[in-house]
Amino acid sequence: MRHFAFLSLLIGVSASQHSLKLPVPTRQLEWKDVNFLSTSDIHGWLLGHQHATWPEPNYSGDYGSLASFATHMRRIAHDKGVDLLLVDAGDHHDGSGLVSSSSDAAGKAEDIFSMLPYDVITIGNHELYHYEDALEEYKNKGRWNGRYVTSNVNITIRSEDGSFQSVPLGEQYLKFDTEQGRKVTAFGIIFNFQAHAKGISVQKPSKLAKEPWFLEAIKDKPDYFVLAGHMPARGETAEFRPIFDAIREVHPKVPIYIFGGHTHVRDCVQYDDRSIGVVPGRYLETVAFTSSSLPQDNDDGPLDVARRYIDGNPVSYKWHTNTSDEDFDLPPIGRNISLALLRLASDLNISTPLGIAPHDYFLERHQYGHPRSVLTVFSDQVLPRTIIDKERNETRVIIGNAGSLRFDLFQGRFDRNDELTVSPFTSSFLYVELPAGLARNITEQMNKSGASKLLPSEPTTKLEEEDRVRRIYNEWMSEQWEDYLVQGGDDHLYDQVESQKIFQNDESDIPKKPRTMGFVTKDTCPGKGDDIKHYPVPHVGNQPDFVQTPFPDVNNDEIIDVVSMDFALDDFLAAVNILDPTIDLKEGHMKPYAEGLEINVVFGMYAKEMWQDGL
Ligand SMILES: [Zn+2]
Ligand SMILES: [Zn+2]
Repeated sequence: MRHFAFLSLLIGVSASQHSLKLPVPTRQLEWKDVNFLSTSDIHGWLLGHQHATWPEPNYSGDYGSLASFATHMRRIAHDKGVDLLLVDAGDHHDGSGLVSSSSDAAGKAEDIFSMLPYDVITIGNHELYHYEDALEEYKNKGRWNGRYVTSNVNITIRSEDGSFQSVPLGEQYLKFDTEQGRKVTAFGIIFNFQAHAKGISVQKPSKLAKEPWFLEAIKDKPDYFVLAGHMPARGETAEFRPIFDAIREVHPKVPIYIFGGHTHVRDCVQYDDRSIGVVPGRYLETVAFTSSSLPQDNDDGPLDVARRYIDGNPVSYKWHTNTSDEDFDLPPIGRNISLALLRLASDLNISTPLGIAPHDYFLERHQYGHPRSVLTVFSDQVLPRTIIDKERNETRVIIGNAGSLRFDLFQGRFDRNDELTVSPFTSSFLYVELPAGLARNITEQMNKSGASKLLPSEPTTKLEEEDRVRRIYNEWMSEQWEDYLVQGGDDHLYDQVESQKIFQNDESDIPKKPRTMGFVTKDTCPGKGDDIKHYPVPHVGNQPDFVQTPFPDVNNDEIIDVVSMDFALDDFLAAVNILDPTIDLKEGHMKPYAEGLEINVVFGMYAKEMWQDGL
């Protein structure tokens, strides 16, 4: 009982803290005949964003508060006599500690995810990198009540007679009636993703569009189609078009509602005037509201559509459902989910503070070399202090992969969840002895050839696919910041990030109009998309792919240990062999360094040693 009281207290405190000064929406949602809430790429961020550095408080709502919001929205839809459907476009795995801290954590998080009933939900590439993860989804698809739809993903399983069989991982397609009695046909489609595990097959969407079963499924005319796809609505990897065209061949005027994801951006596109495609961003930062009129009989005109990107926090949720602190949490589902999440976090031991970070360290707001760049802390402080091989104790340089770091590291409490958020991957270390004169140039050479290697036309590994998403997302963030500067925005923000703390400053310190940092979305749909007007997050481009620890003070002919992450071994070997082809360095020449140590624990080790003040 005391345990529960404590958990409730925790929820109460964090909710009220974050409610303090968050901006309040000013425009009512445009409810129409058919309405959708869509999410994508949550990557385990079910606890919401818990730090006080901007723009994190915008996204401080946990998944329980999203469930309360969705429940109130369903009630409003019921009262209005309109449809409200909940759609998710995949990528639940890999990201926060809730899904990345142990091999079975993601499955447990998925059970909590499914406590909120979705109407249409599909799979992402992050559920398909490991066969066991995909099999877990397959075996437990029942938790989604028949709404987990994966039209172009099959999994090979052993059937009861011992033979192997390739079967659809989820449902192949959905046909259901809404509460208002409207007929819906829905598909779940992933882009032509090829870096999946063995035992999985992904069919190209253009091939899916020609499948006899697919053509049969679209034959009957529904009131509207829903396509949940793990891919963007336009640009690289956007492959909705062949499916859309196949439907249009048969039903030139039936509305088609498209919900995408994967590139982590907010976006909206209309393929024609009887459709809308919305992409809601990532990490439970945004919940997209999409609405549309339905055509009356013989009405061939354009649909009246709208979309709104709602920041994922209780202030926005309450405002849009006209609820208060007293009644927002009344539906038990939200509280039950929040409690289940806190219990899982406690079981996984990801919430114990490891240290207190003295500053914010940003991934993309400062150039590498800046003392507040997380890359600089990684190469100059964390790696040298933590990657130590007691057997060797030789002079060494360590080359780190910048792409292994995924998020900002915020001032204040630093726990295992934060650690996995910053550095979620497993990668060990390998070394080779080389002359210092050669070693001095390896990182630079890796960066010279690295960029091209990291941008292959068709990614075939997890790292390549991850880098593609990161590149697209960074281009989007960089565009927002550059637009802002071109329009005369204040670039001093760049140096004043320290003053953006919401809970430590007076109202007078918070910039005037728009007063908070956040996403500034430019899409191609009519009207304004962002629910709250923000100024963009400062963003610098051109970060290196590889960084190194400070080079030891040695003569060029001295032999030193050169340490590489196994993550980047191909790039390392290639660079050494370009610098000196006579070495002919091969994987077999590399030996384990600091054996047993993985990259996803080094920030925690550093925090336990260096960030104990104030704990
Ligand atoms: Zn994703
Ligand atoms: Zn993805």
